[in-house]
Amino acid sequence: REGGDATSVVVIGLGRFGGALATELVRSGTEVLGVDTNEDTVQSLNGVLTHVVRADSTRQAALDQLGVADFDRIVVGIGSDIQASILTASLLKRMGVRSIWAKAISEQHGLILEQLGVDHVIYPEADMGRRVAHLVRGSMLDYVEFDRDLVVAKTIAPREIIGKTLEEAAVRRKHGITIVKIKGADGVWHAAGAASVVNEGDTLIVIGPVERTERFAALR
Ligand code: ADP
Repeated sequence: REGGDATSVVVIGLGRFGGALATELVRSGTEVLGVDTNEDTVQSLNGVLTHVVRADSTRQAALDQLGVADFDRIVVGIGSDIQASILTASLLKRMGVRSIWAKAISEQHGLILEQLGVDHVIYPEADMGRRVAHLVRGSMLDYVEFDRDLVVAKTIAPREIIGKTLEEAAVRRKHGITIVKIKGADGVWHAAGAASVVNEGDTLIVIGPVERTERFAALR
């Protein structure tokens, strides 16, 4: 079901990406069937995931036997074996699986997955590389880009707004960004409002366009 939360997910390919994804899904309460051809990989996730099975997802019979079509969503985490990734995605599409996510390791790989009709193609390495670039070059503590003109960043409060309320600091007018959360000495994230006061050493969550957010984070 595209709307609403998935209660059951199949993760095919339990490498570094698929393994971490499957483990995190279980941690947040989702039922996970993990599938991998590698016996050691299957062994190591046994007892961690809801079910783990050694199977080859490029075989239609294996997919049928596992009943993957009964799950809400399917993630294809196979990367380096592009042929296996494409074949798996193509079989899943033919089976009419509802919602498919697949990892791509290159642009060409991603293009083929998109042409096959995979609903969500993800590029973990390219995305992470781009994200880390913003952390490496600038002063942000964390960074998520939703769009070129909408990023969310974690940063330390710059001197010019310390001791002022957000209304007095007028960051939206002066810097084109919005402060949405403030964490002070109590270590708790508080919602930021016009009357919130920023103290030295506070951590902020700000929202804005890429360049303006970076510039704001770079203020000392
Ligand atoms: P990562 O970079 O996330 O580790 P890899 O592409 O190296 O990704 O690993 C993908 C995983 O997918 C490996 O554990 C591999 O054993 C598994 N895998 C590869 N081909 C198949 C297949 N046909 N069916 C099931 N699992 C597969």
